[in-house]
Amino acid sequence: MIRIIMLGAPGSGKGTQANLLSKYLKIPFISAGEILRQEIKKNELTKNYIKNTINQGKLVKNNFIIRLIKKNIQEKNCYNGFILDGFPRTIEQAQSLNKTIPIHCVIHLNSKYLDIIERIEGRLIHEPSGRTYHKTFNPPKKNNIDDITGDLLSKRKDDKKRIIKNRLKEYDIYTKPLVNWFKNEQIQKKIEYLELDSSKSINRINKKIIDYINRKIK
Ligand code: AMP
Repeated sequence: MIRIIMLGAPGSGKGTQANLLSKYLKIPFISAGEILRQEIKKNELTKNYIKNTINQGKLVKNNFIIRLIKKNIQEKNCYNGFILDGFPRTIEQAQSLNKTIPIHCVIHLNSKYLDIIERIEGRLIHEPSGRTYHKTFNPPKKNNIDDITGDLLSKRKDDKKRIIKNRLKEYDIYTKPLVNWFKNEQIQKKIEYLELDSSKSINRINKKIIDYINRKIK
């Protein structure tokens, strides 16, 4: 049983790595952003709030996302562990998670500003499932078509340069402080912490993560 957090800026590749690791470890990966995008489709009361916040590149309120994540990680399919992608994004979220359930390992994908812009601008999404691709680094088998369903792929509305800049600002203000917060947790031997350079290839990073998990945790 293992519970993992993927930490990193938007476009650092944490979703891609969470997905690969989830297949390897056979535990679910829970994407906070994807939960919010699905919520827009099913919740009339909150859909405008979520949509507006995401499209401004801002973070949704702590209480709001905490409630949704807690509901998800308490589901039966998470009994053997899970991988969190995009949560926590603030210290308050991390503290709340800490009180709910212990996390074993944080994997931080460290990235440079320019790499991030390139990655996000090339990103494609299969909206119904949340599957993501990248035009260059992780292309679908057929141009612009989802590998599994054959549906047309699209771009996320918040993957525009102007909005990406806001998302990166939010990251600097609220999420970056979590790096030191988790390093401190590591010093106190409460968690394992691994930092990797996100500019390396998808396969290389995946191999490093798997080696680490096998060595340290499994
Ligand atoms: P992502 O798919 O992880 O890039 O997230 C897309 C957007 O969802 C973010 O830009 C935020 O607006 C919102 N979001 C995702 N995760 C969180 C979180 N943990 N806290 C607050 N807002 C979030």
